[in-house]
Parts: sequence; structure tokens; C-alpha cells
Amino acid sequence: MTASTLSRRLGARLAEQRARDLYRQRRVVEAVAGTRVRIDGRELINFSSNDYLGLAGHPQVVAALREAALEYGVGAGAAHLISGHTRVHHQFEEELAAFTGRERALLFSTGYMANAGVITALTGRHDLILADRLNHASLVDAAQLSRARLQRYAHGDVAAVARLLDAGGDGWRLIVSDGVFSMDGDVAPLAQLARLAADHDAGLMIDDAHGFGVLGENGAGSLAEAGLDAGAVPVLMGTLGKALGVFGAFVAGEAALIETLIQSARSYIYTTALPPALAAAGRAALSLAEREAWRREQVLALAQRFRTRAGQLGLELLPSRTPIQPLVLGEAATALRWSAVLREAGCLVQAIRSPTVPAGSARLRITFSAGHTEADVDALLECLAALAQAEAK
Ligand SMILES: *Cc1c(COP(=O)(O)O)cnc(C)c1O
Repeated sequence: MTASTLSRRLGARLAEQRARDLYRQRRVVEAVAGTRVRIDGRELINFSSNDYLGLAGHPQVVAALREAALEYGVGAGAAHLISGHTRVHHQFEEELAAFTGRERALLFSTGYMANAGVITALTGRHDLILADRLNHASLVDAAQLSRARLQRYAHGDVAAVARLLDAGGDGWRLIVSDGVFSMDGDVAPLAQLARLAADHDAGLMIDDAHGFGVLGENGAGSLAEAGLDAGAVPVLMGTLGKALGVFGAFVAGEAALIETLIQSARSYIYTTALPPALAAAGRAALSLAEREAWRREQVLALAQRFRTRAGQLGLELLPSRTPIQPLVLGEAATALRWSAVLREAGCLVQAIRSPTVPAGSARLRITFSAGHTEADVDALLECLAALAQAEAK
């Protein structure tokens, strides 16, 4: 096939995506300062970031990155099992284990890779993975890579999980769920899933990318909040690119789990280690998240303020008590239009469409940060109110 015939084929596919309002475009961000971004020369309030605690630009986190780069250089130079596992990686793993109340933790380069590594290391073609239908795409891909049988159950439907577990089968069963659902903001029925897993001798893995740093008394995440230790939930995955404002991910659990991942998780073994300076930045961010409880309180209070006032305006939100507050609009074109009007008014709120969310449930995914002010929230509400009013006419 020549390059031009390939381009023709792809062009047809792209045109179709465009016709269905599903075409995706990147916006070039020219500068970032806390909750403000500059795009096309204009400053916007960013309501589309996962920097929930406002740590991504924190001077202490930046300083830790800079100092570690001077000491270790930029790249790790090799995989963890070769010569890339530095003291700062090791210290960070010990701190993450302590913070999450688990025996050990293991750093991965990204959350996507952590999920792939864990699920392929723990399951194989004779096993069954039970997954919430709204789980993050990386968990779906990981299950496919593992060649285990994948059964997706309706969102949050513990009765369906029980039925699937009761149905038996030969292999091992692993229940996998987001802790906080990334596009919906609600929390999984964690205690019930843990009970079902225990009763049926099944495994349980929670991806707490959006709960880690935000929920629980000290920010240790949705499992800490629910009082579920490693006995109840043996596999905890968390990411460092969201509430901690850095990059990377970790898995925490008992020593046997971590040793198994070191031996078998291919996305751990066959990749360059996270740059040591990022591990140093992660340590600084974790320390701030732990010490500065006001960040969690602030972001959750802002989300609550938004919910209360949105309710008064007649905007229907999903049942979320986290910094993720989606406004479901339905059609992709509607979500795009609202997003464009908001951008014009100075608010960056990204439209989320299929296949990231089910078709017909396109939405604005509004997220808050400890760096936002009440005035920021009110400015967003004012725009949304005007949009809702215009729509009603
Ligand atoms: C963002 C996210 C991931 C992927 O993490 P990265 O470190 O960005 O690769 C995995 N799971 C969930 C639920 C996420 O939201």
C-alpha cells in the first residue's frame, strides 16, 4: 500500500468521526499557572485538570524535581531490574506503602502500564475478570491483554457480581473496579465488593487513580475512607499524575504481590524506570498532601458549593461527592457546543464523548482543584446558568 492509499483510507475514517461529532482535537496550552491556562493568547480558568490538590506547580515539588535532576540526571537510564532503580525510587515506594497502610508498594511509569502489568501478571486464559462497565479504559485493555475471560457488569451492580461469582467456573476470579469512577465521580460499592470477594475466594483490585490523595482522613484514598485494608482489598493501584500533580503510578499490597509483579509484570520489567527526579517530586507532593489537609477540605468544599448552587439552578448532576462533577448533556454536539460557549466565557471545561463514555451520555466533565476559589466556581455557575436558560428557550 502506498502512503497516499493509506491516507485515503484513513481520511474516510476521520471524516466519519467528524460527521458524528466524535473528532478529537488537541489544544495547545501556552502557559500554566495553577488553575489558569493560556490558550490562543487567552487566559482561561481550568476546570478540566486532575490536579485536585493544586500540587502540580507547587514550588516545593518543582524544587524537589530540580534538585534530584542535578543529582541523578534526567533519565533513569535503564529499567528497574537492570540499573534504573535508585534510592529515591526505593524511598518513595516505602513511603507510598506506609501512606496506604500496605506492606509494600511498587512504582510503575504510568497508571496505564500499572494496570496492564498487574492484570497480566495475576490472570491468564483460564481465569475470569469481573469488571464494572464504567471502569477506566486501561483496565479493559489490560484484561484483553491477559487473555482471561472478561465479564463486564452494570455500573455498581453488586448483585450482578454476586450472580457471576455464584455461577462458579474453574479458574481464579478477579474483581476489578475503579475506586472513584473517572468520568462519573462516584465511588464504587467498595465494602460490598470486598465482602463478595472474601465470601467467594475471589481477588479484588481497586484502581484508585481519582481517590488517592483526595478521599480518606489523611488522603490515603477511597479504601482508607471505607476502612478496607490489604486483607480486604489485596490489590490497590494509585496514580501520581492526578492528586499528587506529578507523573507515574504505583501498586500497593502484601510482599508476595509486589514480588510477583517484579518477577512477572511485563510493563514493569521491559521499560525504562520512571525518571528519579519524578520520584523525588512525588515524595515532595506526597508529603504536602499528607501535611496540608486543607487542600482536600478545600477541593471537596468547592465541589459541594458547586453542587448546591447547580441544584438551585436546576442543573442535574450525577451523584458524586468527589472533585469530579460531570454534567451529562446527551448528544456529543451539545457537549461540544456548551464547551465552546464556556471557553468563550473564560472557562475551560472539556466535552467528554464516546467511546470514553457511553454514546448518548456525552458530558462536560467539570473538575475542581484546591487552587480554585469560590469566585472561580461562581463564575462557572454563572456561565452554566446562562447556557441552561438559553437552551430552555
Ligand atoms: C488516569 C487513569 C489511569 C491511567 O493513569 P496514567 O498514569 O495517566 O496512565 C488509570 N486508571 C484510571 C481510573 C485513571 O483515571
